[in-house]
Amino acid sequence: MVPIMDLTRLIRDVPDFPKPGITFKDITPLLADPVAFETAIAAMAMPWRGKGITKVIGVESRGFILAPPIAMRLGAGFVPVRKPGKLPWKALREEYALEYGKDAVEIHQDAVGPADKVLVVDDVLATGGTLKATISLAQRCGANVIGAAVLIELAFLAGAGRLNCHFSTVLRYS
Ligand code: AMP
Repeated sequence: MVPIMDLTRLIRDVPDFPKPGITFKDITPLLADPVAFETAIAAMAMPWRGKGITKVIGVESRGFILAPPIAMRLGAGFVPVRKPGKLPWKALREEYALEYGKDAVEIHQDAVGPADKVLVVDDVLATGGTLKATISLAQRCGANVIGAAVLIELAFLAGAGRLNCHFSTVLRYS
């Protein structure tokens, strides 16, 4: 196993992407390294073992890469939360504010329900808007959201404080 500290060497900082002033945390070098990928997934899943998680929600698009292997480790199902207009069945929508304008996420209305204990997964927590909207979607379906797990927290944006649930991260940038 690679020590957790070494994972940061496989996160590529891309300045001014997708727009000036944003430093994008590119996780593709980490995903391409089998030992680092395995280490990251194990570290993301570990805090949630034994919590009775029944569904792991992944947020489009990089949440789709991380959530399924975490779901398998926890013995849970995988549920996609997608950008508007992508899901084929009846969906609930939650809008949220961006720095400029707004965005939205959707979930199939029957994807989770009152019998579910949910973990929400994404790659990066920035301002927290995306995860907060995703948590709201699961709660509107009647599910019990146990927590949220990310690989990278941009702590200087204080997103964790906006989430009304337990939260875990593997890497933290202050
Ligand atoms: P937020 O809603 O502000 O917490 O933003 C989180 C979402 O935007 C996640 O789906 C991330 O993949 C993406 N994101 C935000 N900031 C970054 C960043 N600096 N590097 C990579 N992805 C980011």
